[in-house]
Amino acid sequence: MVIIVTKRVYNFYAGPATLPPPALEQAQKELLNFKGTGMSLMEISHRSKEYAEMHTNASNLVRELMGLPEEYKVLWLQGGASSQFYMVPVNLQKDGKTMEYVNTGVWSKKAIKEGKFYGDVKVVASSEDKTFSYIPEEINFSGDAAFAHITGNNTIYGTEYHKWPEVSDNVPLVCDMSSHIFDKVIDPKKFGVIYAGAQKNIGPAGVTLVIVREDLLKRVPDNTPTMQKWITHAEKDSLFNTGPCWAIYMCKLSLEYLKGLGGVSAIEKINRRKAKILYDLIDNSGGFYKGHAKQDSRSLMNVTFNLPTPELEAKCVAEGLEKGLVGLKGHRSIGGMRASIYNAMPTDGVQTLVDFLKEFQENNQ
Ligand SMILES: *Cc1c(COP(=O)(O)O)cnc(C)c1O
Repeated sequence: MVIIVTKRVYNFYAGPATLPPPALEQAQKELLNFKGTGMSLMEISHRSKEYAEMHTNASNLVRELMGLPEEYKVLWLQGGASSQFYMVPVNLQKDGKTMEYVNTGVWSKKAIKEGKFYGDVKVVASSEDKTFSYIPEEINFSGDAAFAHITGNNTIYGTEYHKWPEVSDNVPLVCDMSSHIFDKVIDPKKFGVIYAGAQKNIGPAGVTLVIVREDLLKRVPDNTPTMQKWITHAEKDSLFNTGPCWAIYMCKLSLEYLKGLGGVSAIEKINRRKAKILYDLIDNSGGFYKGHAKQDSRSLMNVTFNLPTPELEAKCVAEGLEKGLVGLKGHRSIGGMRASIYNAMPTDGVQTLVDFLKEFQENNQ
């Protein structure tokens, strides 16, 4: 038998993205025999008691880590965050009211596009004038919108909300948290709906976490297709049909790991430190590295920057790769480089990147 021992690299991909090694190891340990069943979790019925226990634990971890009040439902759905772009208007459109959005990038635009299939959409603020390099300061949602939608972290541009916009009590704030859910402590009561594709900050691709306040489940028209209604999934605890069992299981393992670290307040401290190390390098590079995001809008999760030329950027990505620093190429829409430093990226990974970037600058200035 050939055993190939491969070294883990530092993975800066934007998504799917790095996962905590202890979660992967636990999955490996249980792969052939989950909890004494003699089967892997992938092979057992989603109606079995072993699965049910895991499923409940996963939802409870979300509740506990986020401090969710009783009236919020935790749903595990398929179709990616992209499906929530239409499920939000399907479930929340009300009496022909306007649906209001903030446009902070590609993902916001995709959400806005879907909203328009269901009624009037108003974009109340946008940062498109400066290549989405900031979060608008003035965001004025009206008091009678069907809902107010924001993208909490803009994965491509590296911007993040550090203050939530105000909404009136009767307007639910909806937030796409795909690339930063659990990156910092939030007050969930500010939101009517939170959704996040798992593959950036909590697990593998294939499952989308949707958190909905109970009263909002009842707005959906009766003649809506069953699978498109959040209430279908809420009433059956996300077991209306066969869910993405394995992906939920991996989320459970990674959230368990997060809990073991001390939860969201502990990871927030680590995330702030990691981001600071990298932004300090950018700010102290004499302009060799130029951050894309405006300082007060900088993301804790996706750090975007440019070098003096595209040639140097390509060289830097390639040399990084040789050193085991993977996935540093920026998104094609803004080019440059992007280091995604999600919850599972250790401080050592960021420090290794910073050391490499310093050396690269010395050699190429
Ligand atoms: C990646 C991403 C999406 C798309 O997620 P899918 O699960 O691939 O549909 C949506 N919103 C944001 C903010 C993202 O980063």
